[in-house]
This record gives sequence, C-alpha cells and structure tokens, in this order.
Amino acid sequence: MTTSLTLALPSKGRLREPSWSLLDATGVAPQEPGERVLQSHCRNADIDLLFVRADDVPEYVQDGIVDCGVTGLDLVYERDYDVEVLLRLGYGTCSLQAAVSLEDSAQSIEDLDGRRIATSHPRLAAQLLAERGVKAEIVRVTGSVEISPRLGLADAIIDLVSNGSTLRTNGLRSLGKLFESEAVLVGRRDGSNKEAQATLTTLLASVIDARASRYLLCNVQKDRLAELTALLPTTGSPTVMDLATPGLVAVHALVPSAQVWSLLPQLKACGASAILTLPVERMMP
Ligand code: AMP
Repeated sequence: MTTSLTLALPSKGRLREPSWSLLDATGVAPQEPGERVLQSHCRNADIDLLFVRADDVPEYVQDGIVDCGVTGLDLVYERDYDVEVLLRLGYGTCSLQAAVSLEDSAQSIEDLDGRRIATSHPRLAAQLLAERGVKAEIVRVTGSVEISPRLGLADAIIDLVSNGSTLRTNGLRSLGKLFESEAVLVGRRDGSNKEAQATLTTLLASVIDARASRYLLCNVQKDRLAELTALLPTTGSPTVMDLATPGLVAVHALVPSAQVWSLLPQLKACGASAILTLPVERMMP
C-alpha cells in the first residue's frame, strides 16, 4: 500500500507566500487555499499538506510527523536538527550579519572579540564566531534584535539581513556576513516515502531552474549567425531555423534570466531583430 507524502509548509511569515506560489507553479497546489487552513491535500498529487510556523518545520520533519517541509536554512542550523537538506529553493535569501552602532570603533567581525552580542540565533552565532576565533558573550534575544545596542543590552548584534534597510533605520553598520541563508526543502534522513520525496524534489527543482532561465527568440542574417551564437550564454546548442525570407534565420536558445539585460543590446548590435524573451514553466534535464 502506498501512503501519501506529508509536506509541512510555512503557515505565515516571509516564507509563506513564495512557498505557496512555488507549489502552485509545480501544478500541485493545495485543494483548500486560505489563511486559516491548517491541513489540506494537493489537487493533482497524493501529498498531504500541514501548515505550521517555519521555525517548527525542521522539528516536525526530524520527529517524523511529516516526511518533508519548507523552512529557512538558518532555522535548520540554529537548532542543529537532524534533517537532510534536499533542495535550495532560491527565495527567502538573507544573510546572518554582525553589526554595530555607527559610532562604534569595531571595523571587522574579529574586533568583536570579548564583547557582548545580542542575537536570536545564539547557537549558530556562537559556532560561526568560534570558527573565526572570536570569543564573545552571546546575549539571547527573541525579537527586535536591532534595538539591543541602543538599549545597552549588547555592544553588537548578529541578525538576519536581506537588504540592509532595517540596519540603516536603526543606526547600525554591518561588519560583514557570517552565513548565507535561503528557503530549503528538508526531508527525513530515515523513513519511508523516499521515492515520493525524490519526485517532489525533482518537480520543485524543475520549476526553480526554469525560473532562472528565459527562452530567447530572435532573427538574424545568416552571415552574422556565428557572431550572434558566440554571444549566447547558453550551455546547450541553440536551435537555428531557416525563415521564409532568404538569408534570414531564427535562433532559439535558453539563457540565464540574470544575463538577459546585458545580452539584449549586444544582440541588437549584432543585427538581431524580432527579439523575444519568454518565461519558462518547467525544465527537466
Ligand atoms: P518568518 O519569521 O516566519 O517570517 O520567517 C523567518 C525566516 O525567513 C528566517 O528564518 C529566514 O530564513 C527568512 N528570512 C529572509 N529574509 C529575512 C529577513 N530579512 N529577516 C528575517 N528572516 C528572513
């Protein structure tokens, strides 16, 4: 008998929306979307969904309450949960950074030796500082870490930063990154349902890879084809097709989304016309 795969998703917070949208893009959205739903089943796949706080996901997976789940990598390492990181999901990206108030004399993370540091990631912070040979007194706080120096609770903070605006608003200056985090799919190390877990991982990976690519189409004179294909940042071979107009060909290629902006003017300079870029829904090698 086969049993459903059980998947825990963040029920609120920063990781909720992108996790739901990723699941939706794989074509296996929950049957009952909604703010208050705690459990659901997927529409097109035998997956039972449980909606819990991102912090609780690694524990649910470790204890075998669910087969896999989506959470932040920082949360997995902070509590040292025994789970397997199956896939990096490409959203919820942030870094654990050390910061001090603008007037503080520290210039580097090493300058925090012997000082008091407030953080809501005490375990991870202590480990990362020890790896750099920095001995500091860790002050555990649960919320609003960034006001700790102003309150006199600590000399510095170690906190998650995505764009740095919270640090700036609170008069803090970053001393550098200690750890990079993003949303991850984690699974049980032991346990059953390994096959279904692998299928889900492949499905999610196909959407994540596709999001990082654009399908590029353009037309170019045949005598400039070699020049144009040399510009394409693609690993595979582009498709080249003769058009009804003699001497003109169409070129199709998969290119990294991040390079489209710089590529377009180069294609134009090479005489390309009718340039189109399209989103890719799914990509499987
Ligand atoms: P939540 O507390 O439910 O909003 O989720 C917090 C998780 O979102 C963290 O554990 C990180 O993995 C991730 N995250 C991404 N950017 C940030 C940020 N700027 N501050 C805090 N958490 C972030």
